[in-house]
Amino acid sequence: MSWIDVSVGIRDGMVHWPDNPPVHVEKTMDMAHGDAANVSKISFGVHTGTHMDAPIHFKPGAASIDEVALEAGVGPARVIAIRDPVKIAVAELEPYGIEAGERLLFKTANSPRAWQASAFAENAVYISVEAARWLAARKVRTVGIDYLSVGGFAAENGVQVHEPMLDAGITIIEGLDLTDAPAGPCDLICLPIKIIGCDGAPARAFVRPRD
Ligand SMILES: [Zn+2]
Repeated sequence: MSWIDVSVGIRDGMVHWPDNPPVHVEKTMDMAHGDAANVSKISFGVHTGTHMDAPIHFKPGAASIDEVALEAGVGPARVIAIRDPVKIAVAELEPYGIEAGERLLFKTANSPRAWQASAFAENAVYISVEAARWLAARKVRTVGIDYLSVGGFAAENGVQVHEPMLDAGITIIEGLDLTDAPAGPCDLICLPIKIIGCDGAPARAFVRPRD
């Protein structure tokens, strides 16, 4: 089995969380205009596209992205296909026998629907508050979702979903595109850029299905 890229490409003007900075990718040196090399400049929020959240994102004084263990994003994982078109609920997770230490990637209707939309998808599938607490109680290692927030668009839900998971030491990966990733066990590599003291960082993520 070969590796499957589950990260979203970063493009100038791409969709981002509504109150986060716009995404700019532009050339500051351009050989087409006589410069000695092509050199680009990037400007965007760290929660753009595929990225990993650090505990300090919602907890002042907590660990920053450079302090998150590499193992959070590297190791055996499981892609779980979610049927509910609105939210990830406890009832749908219960049959999976989820255990402590697991890395879980939730493949929802967001892949590819939300990523193909030209505008921000306010109706993206999210993790319910109850399911976030349920995952926290099971002490899973990592939770990944295929749009820009585990908590969806409602502001209060965002805090209530992030907090119990971050408090339980769960690492959160957001902005995956799991369109090409089959449900089932896999190996995961997701490595955030090492930005010192930061609340999150863009990441490249890929999975390799296991037998
Ligand atoms: Zn984030």
